[in-house]
Amino acid sequence: MLIEKGKISRIKNINWDVEIPFGKYYTDHMLFCEYRNDLWKEPQIQTFGNFIFFPNTLVFHYGQAIFEGMKAFKDRKNNMFLFRPLEHFKRFNISAKRLAMPVIPKKIFVEGLINLLKLDTKWIVPKYGYSLYIRPFMIATDGTLTAKPSLNYLFFIFCTSVNKYYSRPLKVKIELKYSRSYNGGIGFIKAAGNYAASFFPTKKAQLEGFDQILWTDSATHSIIEESGTMNVFFYIQNTLITAPADEKILNGISRRSIIEFSKKNNINVIEKYLTIDELKYYLKKKEVAEIFGTGTAVVINHFEKINLKNKNYLLPILKKEERISYFLKKNLLDIQYNLNKDPYHWRFPIQ
Ligand SMILES: *Cc1c(COP(=O)(O)O)cnc(C)c1O
Repeated sequence: MLIEKGKISRIKNINWDVEIPFGKYYTDHMLFCEYRNDLWKEPQIQTFGNFIFFPNTLVFHYGQAIFEGMKAFKDRKNNMFLFRPLEHFKRFNISAKRLAMPVIPKKIFVEGLINLLKLDTKWIVPKYGYSLYIRPFMIATDGTLTAKPSLNYLFFIFCTSVNKYYSRPLKVKIELKYSRSYNGGIGFIKAAGNYAASFFPTKKAQLEGFDQILWTDSATHSIIEESGTMNVFFYIQNTLITAPADEKILNGISRRSIIEFSKKNNINVIEKYLTIDELKYYLKKKEVAEIFGTGTAVVINHFEKINLKNKNYLLPILKKEERISYFLKKNLLDIQYNLNKDPYHWRFPIQ
C-alpha cells in the first residue's frame, strides 16, 4: 500500500466541546484504489482533497455508485475499535454485485481502512459520545455515454469526526404515494440512487412539518417498510417488531445488533411486516409503547408522533429510563465504547 503522509494536519483549532455538524470535519487522509483491466490496483493513502473527473464519467449519468457508513470509537484509555467492520465489508460487496460492479477484496477494504485509521487516529476523541464516521464508496469512472456497466472504478474511504449530536424525538409521516423500494429493486443495498429518489418525498414531508417518512410498500402502500434511512422497530405488547430483511429492506447492522442483543436478553423480538391497519389498531388501543429508527449515524432515534392520512397519533411520553429504545441504545453504546463486555464480538480492536 502506498502511503503518502500529509505534512500538516488540519486538526488544529477545532473546538471539540461544541456539537459538531455531521460532515464538517474530515480527517487528514483518504484511501483510494483503482480498478482497471479487471484488476484492483495497489491502494493509496493521500491527503484528503479533490479529484478531477471528465464530465462524461459514467457515475454522473447512470448512477453506478454504492457506499457504506460505519464507525470507529475510542475508549478512555485510547484503545481504538471498529464496530462490526466485516459486516460492512460483506454488505458493500452485496451492493457491488447488485449494481454489476466488481467486488472489493477484504485486504483493500479492511486493511486499507486500518492503515487509514492508524494514520488519522488523533481525529477520534477518546471520550464517550465521540466517534469517527467512515464512508467507503465506489464509483464507475468510464468516460462514456453508453449506458452499460463501467469497466473502470474507483474505491475510496474517507472519514469525518462526529460527536454526540442531540437527537430529538421524530415526527414521522406514513408515506402513501412514493416508495423507496420495490420487488426486484435495489432497496436492500446502499446505492446512491436510493437516496436521490427519497429526497423529493422527504422534502415534501419536511415542508409539512415532519422530520421523516415511514415508507410503505410500492404495490399496495399498506405495509410498513423503513423510516427515512433507518430501519424501524415497533414496541407493541412487550414485543419488538421489525420488517424482515428481504430484498426491499436494507439489512441494517444496527438492526441486526438490536435483534441479536434482544434475543440474548429475553426481550421478545419478531421479524415480520406490520401493516398500516395493524399499526392503526394498536395505536388506537394505545398499545404502541414506542417506535424507533435505527442506523449507524444515530444508533437509535425514537418517534414522538406518527401521521396517517392527516391524522396524528402521539406516542406515550416516557422518561428515558423507562424507554426500551434508551435501554437498547445505552447497551449498544456501552459495547461500542468498551464500557461493557462484548459476548457478540462486535468490537474489532485496531492495534
Ligand atoms: C444505511 C441504512 C440503514 C441503516 O443501516 P445500518 O447498517 O444500521 O447503518 C437503514 N436503512 C437504509 C435505507 C439505509 O441506507
